[in-house]
Order: sequence, then C-alpha cells, then structure tokens
Amino acid sequence: MAATIRELSCADDYDPNSMPVDKARAFISKFLAPIQVTERLHIRAALGRVAAQDVISPIDVPGHDNSAMDGWAYRHADVASGDGATVMKRVGTSYAGKPYLGPVGRGECVRIFTGAVMPADCDTVAMQERVTADDAGVHIPNDLKAGQNRRFRGEDLKTGAVALPKGTLIGPAAIGLLASLGVAEVNVYRKLRVAFFSTGDELKTIGTPLGAGEIYDSNRYTIYGMLKRAGCQPIDLGNFVDDPDAIRSAFAAASTQADVIITSGGVSVGEADFIKQMLNEMGEVLFWKIAMKPGRPMAVGKVGGAYFFGLPGNPVAVTVTFYQFVRAALATLQGRTDYALPPTCKATLTNKVKKMPGRTEFQRGILTMGANGYEVRTTGDQGSGILSSMVQANCFVVLSTETGNVEPGTVVDVQMFEGVM
Ligand code: AMP
Ligand code: MG
Repeated sequence: MAATIRELSCADDYDPNSMPVDKARAFISKFLAPIQVTERLHIRAALGRVAAQDVISPIDVPGHDNSAMDGWAYRHADVASGDGATVMKRVGTSYAGKPYLGPVGRGECVRIFTGAVMPADCDTVAMQERVTADDAGVHIPNDLKAGQNRRFRGEDLKTGAVALPKGTLIGPAAIGLLASLGVAEVNVYRKLRVAFFSTGDELKTIGTPLGAGEIYDSNRYTIYGMLKRAGCQPIDLGNFVDDPDAIRSAFAAASTQADVIITSGGVSVGEADFIKQMLNEMGEVLFWKIAMKPGRPMAVGKVGGAYFFGLPGNPVAVTVTFYQFVRAALATLQGRTDYALPPTCKATLTNKVKKMPGRTEFQRGILTMGANGYEVRTTGDQGSGILSSMVQANCFVVLSTETGNVEPGTVVDVQMFEGVM
C-alpha cells in the first residue's frame, strides 16, 4: 500500500498542487482493494448489498411456454390465409396456474389467460379484443404471425445462466428476480464500516448553545446521510478540536474499527490544520489540491488498514468531494463492478453563470424539462459554505476547466444527483 502511494506520487503526471479531476479519480481507483468478507442473507435483507458471487439460475424462467395476453390459443397452421377470420371450436380453458391438459385437434382452440400454460398443441394466441365468439364458434383473425403473443420457456433466464453477476448492487428488481428463481438466500459482501469525525476548534454539537464565533457541526450529519444512502455502516466518532493529541487518538480508534475513515476540515494549509501532520506520522497520505471548485484541498491515503479520505471543511465542498470521489471509491470497496458515475446530459442554461477559467466547477443546479428540452438554472449564490444551495439542487452543472462566464442560452453539461443526496 505504502508502495502504491509512493508509486502514484512519482508518476510523471502527478501534480500535487493542481490535480485535474479525472486524474484524481484514476489515482484513487488504482489503490483500492475491495472488501473480501462475505455473508449469506435472505434476499430481503440483501437489498442494497452487493452480490459476492454469480447467482446461477436453477430453473428456466418462465418454466413453460405461456400466453402474453388474455385471448385464444390455437395452431397457426389451421387458419386460412388472407384477410378475414377462421371459425374454430372451443375445447377448453387454460388459466394461469390451471393449465388445459387435453388435446387440441385441427380447427380447435382454447380460451387462455395471461401467464397460462400454452396447450401443447397450440403455438399462437389471438388477443381477445380481436376475437368474437358466437353460436357458430370462435372467429380467429387470419392475419396473426405464427408464435404471436406466446412467451417461450426460458426467455427471461435459462437454467445455468448467470442471473445476477458478482459485483452487482442488489436492488428491488434484483431481489424480485432472485425470488422468481426460487432463490431465498444470497452471498453478499459485508457492509463497509466507515468511521468519520469532524475537526475544528469552532465546532459545536447540536443541542449545545453557540459561543462567539462558534458554529454547529453540520458535516457529520451530511456525511452520515450520504454514507447511509451509499449502503455503508456509518460510525460517528464525534467532533474534535484542532489538537494533535485529540486527532491522533481519533485516528487510532477509527483505524481499528473501520474499513474507511472520513474526516472533514483541517486539510488546507492553515496554521491550525493538523490532519496532514498527524497522517504523515500515522499513515501514508497523498495530499491533493484538486483543480476543482468547490473542494480544492482533499487528502486520500491509508491509516493502518483503513482507507482515508480527508474532505475539506466547507459544507458544500464536503458534498461535492464525496459525490465526485468518495462515492465511487466506496462502491469499489463494497465490491461493486457495476458502478458508474451518473452520466452527464446536456441542458440549456437559463441564467448567467460566473466562472473563472482554470478549474472544473460543480455548481449546484435545478434541472427541469422545458418546452424545448432540458433546462437548468443555478441555485443562486455558489459559495462553498451555502448548504441550502445543495438542498435546493437536483444536479451539478459541470463547467470544464477552460470555461469562463457562461451566458443564458448556452448548452451546458449537467450531472444528476444519484440518490445519495
Ligand atoms: P477548514 O477546512 O477546516 O479550514 O474549514 C473550512 C470552513 O468550513 C470553515 O469556515 C469551517 O468553519 C467550516 N467547517 C469545518 N468543519 C465544519 C463542520 N463539521 N460543519 C460545518 N462547517 C464546518
Ligand atoms: Mg478547520
């Protein structure tokens, strides 16, 4: 691990004073080793977990050919060609769960309902809206294609096929799929344990009165929420004053009980920023000035066996760096192989946006559907302390390094929030 960090920091394109966003992402992903410990859970309890092995289908789904419609099952070869209908004789009914087991002879048909087993002799279903039944018999239209409205055995999954690949996040559809296979339990990776704490002499815990110059510690709550949404087990270690001994013992405690440690504050180069000093002593850390706004200073590394992410103190910078870097890293550590950052889409900006070239900016935006496609407006003041901007927003407006001020009407890149916020 130490070697990896050294190796990374020796790479030609490593610039600790202005690391581009994409490079920082690539560096982070290079040194993460996913969790290996697994447990076996009932599929309901596995919601939000990651499959630790391929789940192989033990059966064909569906288990038999069946009807996709309420209608009439018949043999396609028995209808006349051309327009019009062929009159057939009804010989029985096939209900879902109660198949018609008798034979179906030439010119005969079976009333059938959605999901009901196709009678062995039939190959096609005419939907009921197109069929009339009267004293003369059942009038089946001649213009259907052979096999129409018939679902085939195994068309969803065949016996032996990979139903759920290892590394997949298990969502509601996945647990439904497992249930459709009759699978009641699944092997998943253990939850990632993520310890976090805040640093800063000015921080007070909610429930205590504020003195002059003090503020409430909000980052611990935001981080708790994001970790919960990301499927991790949060371990809240509290907040600490900018004191080397306090922070040293917090790191020591965190590294013995967690897979990942997240801190906020104390990563800039201010006088009172101890995180860097502590970590040089206790672990190995890459400190980065990422060429982004907000979130320029960020630390990534390892303390003992735990991965470490030192986020900036500003509340908006916490959410942005979490979203842009920590989120993907947690997914990798959770064993996910299916994770991708939310795709960006294009939207027309409806207000003027101020920006200086030189850094990637993640401005908070509100994306809506306008008459001519997506429109986005930014949420007013973009200061990195203004957490209400993040509450109102549903997306980031991603402005590239080279971009300067942007006029209304310009098409910009937008990255939707991904449920974590
Ligand atoms: P720092 O990165 O420690 O220099 O902090 C940058 C700014 O974020 C300062 O204005 C801090 O007061 C503020 N800040 C730091 N930690 C927190 C926190 N846990 N909750 C709210 N604001 C914070
Ligand atoms: Mg501070």
